[in-house]
Amino acid sequence: MRCIFLDRDGTLNIDKGYSNKIEDLEIIGNPIHELYYLKRLGFYIIVVSNQAGAKLGYYTEKDVEIFNKEIQKKLFWLIDDFFVCTHAPDENCNCRKPKTGLIEKALEKYEISLENSFVIGDKVADIEMGEKVGAKTILVLTGHGKKEITKAKPDFVAENITQALRMIRKKTEDEIFPLCVSLKNNKKLLGVIDTKEKSFWIKYQLEPEIYKKIIEKTMIFERNQVKTFREDINNYLVPKIVENIPVDFILGTAQFVRD
Ligand SMILES: [Mg+2]
Ligand SMILES: [Zn+2]
Repeated sequence: MRCIFLDRDGTLNIDKGYSNKIEDLEIIGNPIHELYYLKRLGFYIIVVSNQAGAKLGYYTEKDVEIFNKEIQKKLFWLIDDFFVCTHAPDENCNCRKPKTGLIEKALEKYEISLENSFVIGDKVADIEMGEKVGAKTILVLTGHGKKEITKAKPDFVAENITQALRMIRKKTEDEIFPLCVSLKNNKKLLGVIDTKEKSFWIKYQLEPEIYKKIIEKTMIFERNQVKTFREDINNYLVPKIVENIPVDFILGTAQFVRD
């Protein structure tokens, strides 16, 4: 699946300098709608963050955890995961950005296609990390962005996180189709078809026997009790799936519908 790797301080929340106090947490703008939409399109949203202040004594690792949980609350739990480097710069770990260790950790846990993924950040270190792993990079002009733009070579520049997310959505809308099933006028989002990745995933939301009829594919992983299926496809998957659908079900690439 595709993923958006988000930097934290200066990108997602206002960078107040080595702070993990929840009273200092201020989300930049309102990215909730875009995050929600991108998740429905099948993106993972993962935060990758350097928090050297934990080693330097500004706060503890526990403070970072609590702060991240507070971010989750403010963003309605739309973030899939947080990967944090708490090492000091002189420790020479392999996870402090611009190194790629945090992304490697994410790859151990999630099935991610990096070439269709994005890194959003306000510093050269974010952009360089993204470049190293072959993801597309977006520099935001919040946080240190305006200063860093002279040194960074991102693929795209955005005013802020919301605009960056909107750019990603617009860029990928033609490649990803939401897949809906209408069950006696009660439409449900089943999953998405990704024509570029030649894959699809489907949420296990309806009765198992319906799914059995629709999909006899390989299940590649199971996460949070949401079963995800994937199959390589040559072109579009829809015609293949439609063949197996009972008459009562109309399948198509439709607009988003609420659960
Ligand atoms: Mg930052
Ligand atoms: Zn580290």
